[in-house]
Amino acid sequence: MLSPGDDDEERPVTATIDLTDDDAHAALEARAARGQDKPSLIGLDRAELAEALAKIGVPEKQRKMRVQQLWHWLYVRGVDDFMAMTNVARELRETLAAHYVIGRPEIVEEQISADGTRKWLLRFPSRGAGKPVEVETVYIPEEGRGTLCISSQVGCTLNCSFCHTGTQMLVRNLTAEEILAQLMTARDRLGDFPGADTPMGAIVPAEGRKVSNIVMMGMGEPLYNFEAVKKALLIAADGDGLALSKRRITLSTSGVVPEIGRTGSEIGVMLAISLHAANDALRDLLVPINKKYPLKELIASCKAYPGLSNARRITFEYVMLKGVNDSLSHARDLIKLLKGIPAKINLIPFNPWPGTAFECSDWETIGKFADFINAAGYASPIRTPRGRDILAACGQLKSESERMRKSDRLALEAMMIAGHGAE
Ligand code: SAH
Ligand code: SF4
Repeated sequence: MLSPGDDDEERPVTATIDLTDDDAHAALEARAARGQDKPSLIGLDRAELAEALAKIGVPEKQRKMRVQQLWHWLYVRGVDDFMAMTNVARELRETLAAHYVIGRPEIVEEQISADGTRKWLLRFPSRGAGKPVEVETVYIPEEGRGTLCISSQVGCTLNCSFCHTGTQMLVRNLTAEEILAQLMTARDRLGDFPGADTPMGAIVPAEGRKVSNIVMMGMGEPLYNFEAVKKALLIAADGDGLALSKRRITLSTSGVVPEIGRTGSEIGVMLAISLHAANDALRDLLVPINKKYPLKELIASCKAYPGLSNARRITFEYVMLKGVNDSLSHARDLIKLLKGIPAKINLIPFNPWPGTAFECSDWETIGKFADFINAAGYASPIRTPRGRDILAACGQLKSESERMRKSDRLALEAMMIAGHGAE
């Protein structure tokens, strides 16, 4: 739990691992370099893997079996070298290696926070399409589980006014390979793939895994990159491979209404909505996509979310901004808005970043807000800020330029001043 005074406390970075001197890093770099020109097999579905095998001359009657073998090596064992695939004929391993790679990005930087949170800056080769891109992935270990926060885009085209990522111009959507490779690289670094002696076909237990949960809450708006996110998440949830339960996968959206229903019916993962305000005037300022898809439409799409039940509730994220959206009357509006939806409300203490005008609400205010919505029958956990010292917490992922429109900034500042005055 967040403790009083935690807000201001910026703890020192425990460790930034300089991978440049490390032998392991030299190997990683060499591997990433090998991946510059050839296509990667990571992120292909079974049909595409079969096609990739056909292209290198694997006869049709063998393909299904070979796909199964590859799937196991790639996603259960997590190997990054074709030569390790010992039950595949040597000649085929060599042909595979001549034409394809098992992509892993270059780890540019690995930072470990005082609280154990890890942040990786990963560089993906261009594979012939523009410049290499860099993204951040964050691992948050907790009692009984470990959550990996995955990015879906480089930067974000939306510009929620309190979000650091929103200040960075979008460079591009990530591919399914790049989305999955974040999970695989994290598992490599955490030693989370089973040892080499795991028997073929072994079922990997969900318990005891270092990465037990994933959240699409890193950089970018996942529903603006629907197809790649869908492909990557279906592979992550595949029972014969990475085998993460869909109940342990959460996709967070700022409210791209047309894709919300499809998220439930085509991907089937848990949904989180970045709500942050319960009236359109304020939400227009905080989460500008609200101007396109206002609350009425957003709430209707939540009510219709496939699979919604008390056991599979929607999480509504609500960032606590001092003097902006944190009064009890805001809490009352929130309860009213969510009436009838099986929901959890996740209060997120605002994580500051250089140049922001927002401040996090006081501990006492957050506590009162939480009590109020608790009393109305909603679970309202307060998200413990993690990894703030390495700018790894929600909304702190990297940025380049300031994008908020001046008129919107002025309106917000006026609102904040009014909010402080009312205290
Ligand atoms: N683009 C998606 C997912 C990434 S953001 C979305 O907006 O839902 C993940 C969560 O962090 C969102 O709820 C987002 O609103 C929140 N967030 C962004 N900036 C933040 C900040 N500075 N402090 C706390 N939470 C923030
Ligand atoms: Fe993009 Fe989400 Fe940040 Fe909004 S909160 S700018 S949608 S990453």
